[in-house]
Amino acid sequence: MNADARIENARAIPIESEIARRGIKLKGTVDRCGPCPRCGERDRFAINLRKQCFICRGASAGDVIDIPEASVGNLAFRGATL
Ligand SMILES: [Zn+2]
Repeated sequence: MNADARIENARAIPIESEIARRGIKLKGTVDRCGPCPRCGERDRFAINLRKQCFICRGASAGDVIDIPEASVGNLAFRGATL
């Protein structure tokens, strides 16, 4: 599998599944918020199930494949998980 295919596979994972796999508990239905896996601030992190994206208010945002990078703040880690 080449890098593009791995990225497409990763992007196909629902963002809520990846959040649940990491044991992050969020409140809400479409817009769900809770503790941030990157900075640890409570109620600063949110995902939107329709848009399949996340945001940490004022710090970072992205889609499901950006979460590993955001959670450790390390580009090398992102490459290793794809
Ligand atoms: Zn944060």
